[in-house]
Amino acid sequence: MQPAEPEQLRRSQLMMGTIIEIVAYGQDQNLLESAISAAFDEIARLEKRLSRYHEDSDVTRLSKSSTGGEVAPETAAVIALGLDVAKRSQGAFDMTLGRLKAVWGFDKEAPSVPDKNAITDALQGIGPQAISLDKNRVTKSSPQLMVDLGGVAKGYAVDQAIRVLKNHGITSGAVNAGGDMYLLGQHPERPWRIGIQHPRKQQGTVATVEIRDKAVVTSGDYERYFEQEGRRYHHIFDPATGMPARLCQSVTIIAESVALGDALATAVFVLGPQAGLKLLQHYPETEGLVIAADGTAYESPGWKGYRAKP
Ligand code: FAD
Ligand code: MG
Repeated sequence: MQPAEPEQLRRSQLMMGTIIEIVAYGQDQNLLESAISAAFDEIARLEKRLSRYHEDSDVTRLSKSSTGGEVAPETAAVIALGLDVAKRSQGAFDMTLGRLKAVWGFDKEAPSVPDKNAITDALQGIGPQAISLDKNRVTKSSPQLMVDLGGVAKGYAVDQAIRVLKNHGITSGAVNAGGDMYLLGQHPERPWRIGIQHPRKQQGTVATVEIRDKAVVTSGDYERYFEQEGRRYHHIFDPATGMPARLCQSVTIIAESVALGDALATAVFVLGPQAGLKLLQHYPETEGLVIAADGTAYESPGWKGYRAKP
């Protein structure tokens, strides 16, 4: 006798400044309900730890401290991964851009281009060497440094939500936090098909991939930006200049974890197509699609293996 069609449960919430959507498949509606709400609880718990918008978070405490301090194991795990990508990307990925993000005011009503001195000042002391980690102890090289995990912590939270779904026995589902997602198992009869947002055509896609048990993460200049005198200013910064990075429109990474994909998408966005795809060679099991500033698409060698069959 044919097993009954699995039930689908889909829920979404505004968290971490973005819409988080969780979908799960299974036979038992109550189990789906409790698994999804436990996954949202886990994201809420991590948001309190990792957010620069929360007064008591590890990130805010580190930014306020003069030399650093003890952090929770999860925060240390996120910072360890971020430091690895920061070093391998020669500082293109940088978790010490908190002051720079503040002067650009992307979380304010009306962000605007800050004056040159404010940017130069905010770049003082940043870089892969600016913070170090010894077990759960973070050390800052200068008191004014502000930590910002916006380029990696959302991905980490998605990974942990997937872990909670799995612990509830869910074998088919997905967690999507504003374009940073993990696809668990099948959907349910076939691989998940994911359309990659076209960076200039709102309704368009630049590619469609078929995926199972992987992370798909996109960073783009169309997510958080404003225009001034015909120029687009977005929230992914080149630490060398303090200005929005200009070599790409969007970067999509396929990886084992969303946290790694998140950090790599931001780093490759700053490095540009050539240096960016070269960085991916350090990370086996990762593939990338880069849409350059002129709209040209560049794929890593194994990307074609994920392209959806027509
Ligand atoms: P990504 O490309 O993945 O990351 C871009 C973000 O990374 C930038 O916003 C900046 O934070 C940081 N960044 C920029 N340049 C670099 C660089 N060169 N190297 C490393 N990092 C860089 N937003 C709100 O508006 N309100 C909130 O309350 C809020 N809470 C949050 C709580 C948490 C725990 C997290 C992780 C994020 C939260 N955010 C919030 C969203 C956050 O501000 C960013 O917009 C979001 O993380 C960007 O993710 P992305 O995938 O869109 O872009
Ligand atoms: Mg991201």
